[in-house]
Amino acid sequence: RAKETGRDQAVWFDEQMYLQSMRRMQTEHDLRLALQHDELFLDYQPAFDLRCERIDHVEALVRWRHPTRGLVPPLDFIPVAEDSGLIHQLGEWVLARAVEQAERWAHIPDMRVWINVSPQQLAHCGFPELIATHLNRVGLPGFHLGIEVTESTLADRDSLTTVLQEIRQLGVAVAIDDFGTGYSSLARLSTFPVDVIKIDRSFVADVETPRGETVLAGIVTLAHATGAHVIAEGVETEAQLAALSALGVDSASGYLLARPAAPEHLPLPDAGHSPLEQRHGLHPRLQY
Ligand code: C2E
Ligand code: MG
Ligand code: MG
Ligand code: MG
Repeated sequence: RAKETGRDQAVWFDEQMYLQSMRRMQTEHDLRLALQHDELFLDYQPAFDLRCERIDHVEALVRWRHPTRGLVPPLDFIPVAEDSGLIHQLGEWVLARAVEQAERWAHIPDMRVWINVSPQQLAHCGFPELIATHLNRVGLPGFHLGIEVTESTLADRDSLTTVLQEIRQLGVAVAIDDFGTGYSSLARLSTFPVDVIKIDRSFVADVETPRGETVLAGIVTLAHATGAHVIAEGVETEAQLAALSALGVDSASGYLLARPAAPEHLPLPDAGHSPLEQRHGLHPRLQY
Protein backbone atom coordinates (compact mmCIF):
# COMPACT_ATOMS: atom_id res chain seq x y z
CA ARG A 1 0.00 0.00 0.00
CA ALA A 2 2.75 2.36 0.99
CA LYS A 3 4.60 1.42 -2.14
CA GLU A 4 1.56 2.17 -4.27
CA THR A 5 1.05 5.56 -2.65
CA GLY A 6 4.71 6.27 -3.26
CA ARG A 7 4.29 5.43 -6.92
CA ASP A 8 1.17 7.60 -7.20
CA GLN A 9 3.02 10.47 -5.63
CA ALA A 10 5.92 9.98 -7.98
CA VAL A 11 3.55 10.10 -10.95
CA TRP A 12 1.83 13.17 -9.53
CA PHE A 13 5.21 14.79 -8.95
CA ASP A 14 6.36 13.99 -12.49
CA GLU A 15 3.15 15.45 -13.85
CA GLN A 16 3.60 18.65 -11.86
CA MET A 17 7.21 18.95 -13.00
CA TYR A 18 6.12 18.36 -16.57
CA LEU A 19 3.33 20.94 -16.39
CA GLN A 20 5.65 23.44 -14.78
CA SER A 21 8.33 23.04 -17.40
CA MET A 22 5.69 23.33 -20.15
CA ARG A 23 4.47 26.56 -18.59
CA ARG A 24 8.00 27.91 -18.44
CA MET A 25 8.65 26.99 -22.06
CA GLN A 26 5.41 28.67 -23.08
CA THR A 27 6.31 31.78 -21.09
CA GLU A 28 9.77 31.86 -22.65
CA HIS A 29 8.31 31.50 -26.13
CA ASP A 30 5.72 34.22 -25.49
CA LEU A 31 8.29 36.52 -23.92
CA ARG A 32 10.40 36.36 -27.08
CA LEU A 33 7.35 37.50 -29.05
CA ALA A 34 6.54 40.12 -26.42
CA LEU A 35 9.93 41.74 -26.96
CA GLN A 36 9.31 41.86 -30.71
CA HIS A 37 5.68 42.97 -30.48
CA ASP A 38 6.01 45.74 -27.95
CA GLU A 39 3.96 44.09 -25.21
CA LEU A 40 6.20 45.34 -22.40
CA PHE A 41 5.95 48.71 -20.70
CA LEU A 42 7.29 50.44 -17.62
CA ASP A 43 5.40 51.75 -14.63
CA TYR A 44 7.07 54.10 -12.19
CA GLN A 45 6.82 54.14 -8.41
CA PRO A 46 8.09 57.06 -6.34
CA ALA A 47 9.66 57.04 -2.89
CA PHE A 48 9.29 60.09 -0.67
CA ASP A 49 11.81 61.81 1.54
CA LEU A 50 10.20 61.60 4.99
CA ARG A 51 11.54 64.92 6.20
CA CYS A 52 10.69 67.23 3.35
CA GLU A 53 7.96 64.95 2.02
CA ARG A 54 9.08 65.14 -1.60
CA ILE A 55 9.79 62.50 -4.22
CA ASP A 56 13.43 61.52 -4.01
CA HIS A 57 13.51 58.19 -5.83
CA VAL A 58 11.59 56.92 -8.86
CA GLU A 59 11.75 53.22 -9.68
CA ALA A 60 10.91 51.77 -13.08
CA LEU A 61 9.06 48.43 -12.89
CA VAL A 62 8.58 46.31 -15.98
CA ARG A 63 5.10 45.12 -16.94
CA TRP A 64 3.93 42.68 -19.58
CA ARG A 65 0.52 42.89 -21.17
CA HIS A 66 0.13 39.41 -22.63
CA PRO A 67 -2.39 39.17 -25.52
CA THR A 68 -4.40 36.38 -23.83
CA ARG A 69 -3.09 36.08 -20.27
CA GLY A 70 -3.52 39.76 -19.49
CA LEU A 71 -1.06 41.45 -17.14
CA VAL A 72 1.69 39.02 -16.14
CA PRO A 73 3.53 39.98 -12.93
CA PRO A 74 7.34 40.39 -13.21
CA LEU A 75 7.91 37.62 -10.69
CA ASP A 76 6.26 35.23 -13.19
CA PHE A 77 8.52 36.15 -16.10
CA ILE A 78 11.76 37.72 -14.80
CA PRO A 79 12.99 34.33 -13.46
CA VAL A 80 12.16 32.75 -16.84
CA ALA A 81 14.05 35.52 -18.62
CA GLU A 82 17.00 34.99 -16.28
CA ASP A 83 17.09 31.23 -16.86
CA SER A 84 16.71 31.48 -20.62
CA GLY A 85 19.21 34.26 -21.24
CA LEU A 86 16.42 36.55 -22.49
CA ILE A 87 17.20 38.81 -19.54
CA HIS A 88 19.94 40.53 -21.54
CA GLN A 89 17.52 41.61 -24.26
CA LEU A 90 14.77 42.41 -21.75
CA GLY A 91 17.19 44.28 -19.50
CA GLU A 92 18.48 46.37 -22.38
CA TRP A 93 14.91 47.19 -23.37
CA VAL A 94 14.25 48.41 -19.82
CA LEU A 95 17.49 50.42 -19.80
CA ALA A 96 16.67 52.02 -23.15
CA ARG A 97 13.13 53.05 -22.16
CA ALA A 98 14.22 54.24 -18.70
CA VAL A 99 16.94 56.58 -20.02
CA GLU A 100 14.47 57.97 -22.56
CA GLN A 101 11.99 58.71 -19.76
CA ALA A 102 14.74 60.11 -17.54
CA GLU A 103 15.72 62.43 -20.39
CA ARG A 104 12.13 63.73 -20.53
CA TRP A 105 12.31 64.38 -16.78
CA ALA A 106 15.84 65.76 -16.78
CA HIS A 107 14.63 69.35 -16.23
CA ILE A 108 13.21 68.37 -12.81
CA PRO A 109 15.80 69.08 -10.09
CA ASP A 110 17.54 65.99 -8.65
CA MET A 111 15.46 63.66 -10.77
CA ARG A 112 16.87 60.17 -11.14
CA VAL A 113 15.20 57.08 -12.61
CA TRP A 114 16.14 53.74 -11.05
CA ILE A 115 16.04 50.42 -12.86
CA ASN A 116 16.23 46.89 -11.49
CA VAL A 117 19.19 44.92 -12.80
CA SER A 118 19.45 41.12 -12.71
CA PRO A 119 22.65 39.39 -11.55
CA GLN A 120 23.33 38.08 -15.08
CA GLN A 121 23.27 41.59 -16.50
CA LEU A 122 25.67 42.92 -13.88
CA ALA A 123 28.05 40.00 -14.35
CA HIS A 124 28.01 40.30 -18.15
CA CYS A 125 31.19 41.88 -19.42
CA GLY A 126 30.47 45.20 -21.04
CA PHE A 127 27.49 46.13 -18.87
CA PRO A 128 28.97 49.51 -17.81
CA GLU A 129 29.69 50.23 -21.49
CA LEU A 130 26.11 49.30 -22.40
CA ILE A 131 24.84 51.82 -19.85
CA ALA A 132 27.20 54.45 -21.24
CA THR A 133 26.01 53.75 -24.79
CA HIS A 134 22.38 54.33 -23.86
CA LEU A 135 23.15 57.46 -21.84
CA ASN A 136 25.07 58.87 -24.81
CA ARG A 137 22.34 57.87 -27.24
CA VAL A 138 19.84 60.20 -25.55
CA GLY A 139 22.45 62.68 -24.28
CA LEU A 140 21.66 62.02 -20.63
CA PRO A 141 24.16 62.63 -17.83
CA GLY A 142 24.65 59.54 -15.65
CA PHE A 143 23.36 61.30 -12.54
CA HIS A 144 19.82 60.91 -13.87
CA LEU A 145 20.07 57.10 -13.68
CA GLY A 146 20.40 54.57 -10.88
CA ILE A 147 20.57 50.79 -10.76
CA GLU A 148 19.04 48.54 -8.11
CA VAL A 149 20.71 45.20 -7.49
CA THR A 150 19.45 42.73 -4.92
CA GLU A 151 21.54 41.86 -1.93
CA SER A 152 21.74 38.23 -3.12
CA THR A 153 23.25 39.42 -6.42
CA LEU A 154 26.29 40.62 -4.49
CA ALA A 155 26.61 37.60 -2.22
CA ASP A 156 29.97 35.86 -2.63
CA ARG A 157 30.85 38.03 -5.59
CA ASP A 158 33.54 40.49 -4.62
CA SER A 159 34.46 40.67 -8.32
CA LEU A 160 31.36 42.81 -8.83
CA THR A 161 32.92 45.64 -6.81
CA THR A 162 34.90 46.72 -9.86
CA VAL A 163 31.79 46.64 -12.06
CA LEU A 164 29.85 48.77 -9.57
CA GLN A 165 32.76 51.20 -9.43
CA GLU A 166 32.83 51.50 -13.22
CA ILE A 167 29.09 52.16 -13.24
CA ARG A 168 29.40 54.81 -10.54
CA GLN A 169 32.17 56.50 -12.50
CA LEU A 170 29.48 57.27 -15.08
CA GLY A 171 27.61 59.18 -12.37
CA VAL A 172 25.05 56.38 -12.13
CA ALA A 173 24.01 55.58 -8.55
CA VAL A 174 23.78 52.11 -7.05
CA ALA A 175 21.14 50.78 -4.64
CA ILE A 176 20.96 47.49 -2.81
CA ASP A 177 17.42 46.20 -3.21
CA ASP A 178 15.47 43.86 -0.90
CA PHE A 179 17.98 44.53 1.81
CA GLY A 180 17.82 42.10 4.70
CA THR A 181 16.72 39.09 2.65
CA GLY A 182 20.10 38.05 1.28
CA TYR A 183 21.85 36.70 4.35
CA SER A 184 24.96 38.80 3.90
CA SER A 185 26.37 40.92 6.68
CA LEU A 186 26.14 44.65 6.44
CA ALA A 187 29.84 44.75 7.24
CA ARG A 188 30.55 42.88 4.02
CA LEU A 189 28.04 44.90 2.05
CA SER A 190 29.68 48.10 3.18
CA THR A 191 32.70 47.06 1.10
CA PHE A 192 30.51 47.57 -1.99
CA PRO A 193 30.24 51.10 -3.33
CA VAL A 194 26.56 51.76 -2.62
CA ASP A 195 24.52 54.96 -2.46
CA VAL A 196 21.14 53.67 -1.32
CA ILE A 197 19.90 50.77 0.77
CA LYS A 198 16.30 49.70 0.18
CA ILE A 199 14.91 47.78 3.12
CA ASP A 200 12.74 44.87 2.07
CA ARG A 201 9.05 45.19 2.78
CA SER A 202 9.04 42.09 5.00
CA PHE A 203 10.88 44.19 7.60
CA VAL A 204 8.48 47.07 7.13
CA ALA A 205 5.57 44.71 7.80
CA ASP A 206 7.25 43.85 11.11
CA VAL A 207 8.07 47.36 12.27
CA GLU A 208 5.24 47.54 14.78
CA THR A 209 6.47 44.54 16.79
CA PRO A 210 9.15 45.28 19.39
CA ARG A 211 11.51 42.79 17.77
CA GLY A 212 10.89 44.13 14.28
CA GLU A 213 11.47 47.65 15.49
CA THR A 214 14.78 46.68 17.09
CA VAL A 215 15.99 44.92 13.95
CA LEU A 216 15.05 47.89 11.79
CA ALA A 217 16.74 50.33 14.14
CA GLY A 218 19.92 48.29 13.80
CA ILE A 219 19.73 48.20 10.01
CA VAL A 220 19.19 51.96 9.85
CA THR A 221 22.10 52.73 12.16
CA LEU A 222 24.50 50.47 10.28
CA ALA A 223 23.33 51.64 6.87
CA HIS A 224 23.82 55.25 7.89
CA ALA A 225 27.26 54.38 9.22
CA THR A 226 28.22 53.26 5.69
CA GLY A 227 26.98 56.60 4.38
CA ALA A 228 24.02 55.13 2.53
CA HIS A 229 20.60 56.71 2.16
CA VAL A 230 17.91 54.39 3.56
CA ILE A 231 14.60 53.73 1.82
CA ALA A 232 11.87 51.53 3.29
CA GLU A 233 9.77 49.66 0.72
CA GLY A 234 6.19 48.46 0.86
CA VAL A 235 4.69 50.91 3.35
CA GLU A 236 0.98 50.20 3.53
CA THR A 237 -0.23 51.84 6.76
CA GLU A 238 0.03 55.17 8.56
CA ALA A 239 1.35 53.36 11.65
CA GLN A 240 4.23 51.87 9.65
CA LEU A 241 5.02 55.26 8.16
CA ALA A 242 5.12 56.88 11.60
CA ALA A 243 7.29 54.11 13.04
CA LEU A 244 9.76 54.30 10.13
CA SER A 245 9.94 58.04 10.45
CA ALA A 246 10.72 57.73 14.16
CA LEU A 247 13.48 55.22 13.40
CA GLY A 248 15.27 57.70 11.18
CA VAL A 249 14.56 56.02 7.84
CA ASP A 250 15.24 58.64 5.16
CA SER A 251 12.57 57.75 2.60
CA ALA A 252 9.64 55.45 2.05
CA SER A 253 7.61 53.96 -0.78
CA GLY A 254 4.55 51.77 -0.85
CA TYR A 255 0.88 51.56 -1.68
CA LEU A 256 0.00 53.99 1.13
CA LEU A 257 2.02 56.70 -0.61
CA ALA A 258 1.76 55.92 -4.30
CA ARG A 259 1.27 52.83 -6.44
CA PRO A 260 3.40 52.14 -9.49
CA ALA A 261 1.84 54.02 -12.42
CA ALA A 262 2.40 55.28 -15.95
CA PRO A 263 4.90 58.17 -16.15
CA GLU A 264 2.18 60.75 -16.88
CA HIS A 265 0.47 59.85 -13.59
CA LEU A 266 3.52 60.39 -11.45
CA PRO A 267 2.92 63.27 -9.02
CA LEU A 268 5.74 65.47 -10.32
CA PRO A 269 6.02 69.28 -10.08
CA ASP A 270 5.22 70.25 -13.66
CA ALA A 271 3.88 67.13 -15.26
CA GLY A 272 1.09 69.26 -16.74
CA HIS A 273 -1.83 67.98 -14.63
CA SER A 274 -4.46 69.87 -12.76
CA PRO A 275 -3.82 69.87 -8.99
CA LEU A 276 -6.73 67.48 -8.51
CA GLU A 277 -5.28 64.93 -10.91
CA GLN A 278 -1.89 65.36 -9.31
CA ARG A 279 -3.27 64.45 -5.95
CA HIS A 280 -5.16 61.44 -7.21
CA GLY A 281 -4.00 58.38 -5.31
CA LEU A 282 -1.36 60.34 -3.46
CA HIS A 283 -0.94 60.50 0.27
CA PRO A 284 -2.33 63.88 1.38
CA ARG A 285 0.78 64.77 3.39
CA LEU A 286 3.08 64.53 0.42
CA GLN A 287 4.29 67.23 -1.92
CA TYR A 288 5.97 67.09 -5.26
P1 C2E B 1 11.41 45.25 -6.30
O1 C2E B 1 12.47 45.84 -7.16
O2 C2E B 1 11.72 45.07 -4.87
O3 C2E B 1 10.14 46.19 -6.50
C1 C2E B 1 9.17 46.43 -5.52
C2 C2E B 1 7.94 45.58 -5.72
O4 C2E B 1 7.03 45.78 -4.64
C3 C2E B 1 7.15 45.92 -6.98
O5 C2E B 1 6.53 44.71 -7.41
C4 C2E B 1 6.09 46.88 -6.44
O6 C2E B 1 4.95 46.96 -7.26
C5 C2E B 1 5.79 46.21 -5.12
N1 C2E B 1 5.23 47.15 -4.13
C6 C2E B 1 5.44 48.46 -4.01
N2 C2E B 1 4.79 48.96 -2.95
C7 C2E B 1 4.16 47.93 -2.36
C8 C2E B 1 3.31 47.80 -1.19
O7 C2E B 1 3.03 48.76 -0.48
N3 C2E B 1 2.87 46.55 -0.90
C9 C2E B 1 3.16 45.47 -1.67
N4 C2E B 1 2.65 44.30 -1.30
N5 C2E B 1 3.96 45.55 -2.75
C10 C2E B 1 4.45 46.77 -3.09
P2 C2E B 1 6.55 44.24 -8.93
O8 C2E B 1 6.39 45.40 -9.84
O9 C2E B 1 5.59 43.11 -9.04
O10 C2E B 1 8.03 43.71 -9.13
C11 C2E B 1 8.49 42.60 -8.41
C12 C2E B 1 9.97 42.44 -8.59
O11 C2E B 1 10.29 42.12 -9.95
C13 C2E B 1 10.79 43.68 -8.28
O12 C2E B 1 10.96 43.82 -6.89
C14 C2E B 1 12.07 43.37 -9.02
O13 C2E B 1 12.89 42.52 -8.26
C15 C2E B 1 11.57 42.61 -10.24
N6 C2E B 1 11.52 43.53 -11.38
C16 C2E B 1 10.59 44.46 -11.72
N7 C2E B 1 10.95 45.13 -12.84
C17 C2E B 1 12.15 44.61 -13.20
C18 C2E B 1 13.06 44.88 -14.30
O14 C2E B 1 12.85 45.78 -15.14
N8 C2E B 1 14.19 44.12 -14.36
C19 C2E B 1 14.47 43.15 -13.44
N9 C2E B 1 15.63 42.45 -13.57
N10 C2E B 1 13.66 42.90 -12.40
C20 C2E B 1 12.51 43.60 -12.29
MG1 MG C 1 13.71 47.41 -7.01
MG1 MG D 1 12.76 45.55 -3.26
MG1 MG E 1 13.49 42.75 -5.96
